[in-house]
Amino acid sequence: MSEKLTSQKAIELEDQYGAHNYHPLPVVLTRGEGVFVWDLDGKQYFDFLSAYSAVNQGHCNPTIVNAMINQAKRLTLTSRAFYNDCLGEYEKYITEYFGFDKVLPMNSGAEADETALKLTRKWAYLKKGVPENQAKIIVCEGNFHGRTITIVSMSSDPEAKKDFGPFTPGFEQIPYNDIPALENALKDPNVAGFLVEPIQGEAGVFVPDAGYLKKAYDVCKANNVLFIADEVQTGLARTGKMLACDHEGVKPDILILGKALSGGVMPISAVLANDDIMLCIKPGEHGSTFGGNPLACKVAIAALGVLKDDKLSENAERMGELFRSELRKIDSEMIELVRGKGLLNAIVIKPKNGKEAWDVCLKMRDNGLLAKPTHGHIIRFAPPLVINEEQVHEAVDIIKRSILSFE
Ligand code: PLP
Repeated sequence: MSEKLTSQKAIELEDQYGAHNYHPLPVVLTRGEGVFVWDLDGKQYFDFLSAYSAVNQGHCNPTIVNAMINQAKRLTLTSRAFYNDCLGEYEKYITEYFGFDKVLPMNSGAEADETALKLTRKWAYLKKGVPENQAKIIVCEGNFHGRTITIVSMSSDPEAKKDFGPFTPGFEQIPYNDIPALENALKDPNVAGFLVEPIQGEAGVFVPDAGYLKKAYDVCKANNVLFIADEVQTGLARTGKMLACDHEGVKPDILILGKALSGGVMPISAVLANDDIMLCIKPGEHGSTFGGNPLACKVAIAALGVLKDDKLSENAERMGELFRSELRKIDSEMIELVRGKGLLNAIVIKPKNGKEAWDVCLKMRDNGLLAKPTHGHIIRFAPPLVINEEQVHEAVDIIKRSILSFE
């Protein structure tokens, strides 16, 4: 394109040629570094979404980008028809990192969730002795695990489901954060697994009661049911621990990772489990052309390395405490609630003078901070985990000024 691309032109292009499956905040980004992104006019913003927690290590993290460039010049994809000289190294690294026997590499979060569901069903038939086609997986109301037909079959969100049926059977929903409901559901001997987000991110950052995950895990163990943690959003230092399950000392039977496993430079996801479960899947039964590609392997090793080397869990814990306590000082009727853990936080907005969460997000954009409403009235705040104290104060100041402008 020879003429200079303006923000308006960029938006028009997306609108005209792209499917309308998103409703972006009107801002056109062209560059990112650390906690900041810049638009086409050179205006700088705090990124308080981090691509839905994929950019935990900060935008264009140099360690990750260099690993990517170096490998991109050598070998990017072999498919799994052949061995490559990166996959084994990565598999050893990630399994030791999280303490599992095996990993199954995929690309998107949804694919990793699908993988976990297939693995759970296989295990149910091969190991638990559930009669053919009878395996059931328990999920939670308000869940978000992605967008495939099977995954939306598990959803309780009408917007995610409407006109996408018929749906995949074999799932039962129970309320989130409800141990008696889980105990009741697990009375059925055909239950193979319980799939849960340690904090429900997309639903609006719902943090369950302390002890919920541990109790849920114990109930699963007592009933020979697999505890499956979807840590695609909560994982990888976001909540102040490497995994959100670590807050309660729970080690899932199946762990699902995505997003920040690549630091946001390409889609990389993974499912981890021990041999007893993982070896239920045999050659030819599951896979993906791109899963475990050499480029992804090098990127994921670098991305996981940065989390530990830069102590991002510890930083998320400290900055999260500071962020919530500063947010709670804002005196506005529009803030109904502040909640979260580590740097996965949200405020619930009470509309005032006809102004809603979307208006607050537009105002914050004008003032130099990007965030997006979820479910209309909730604004999630999830900056890259490299944010420092001074930046937290600056960001809170922007949020405060933006909200108070509606008073
Ligand atoms: N699982 C959880 C908990 C998520 O939050 C998401 C995305 O937001 C997914 C799965 C789906 O990941 P992806 O969009 O990479 O398919």
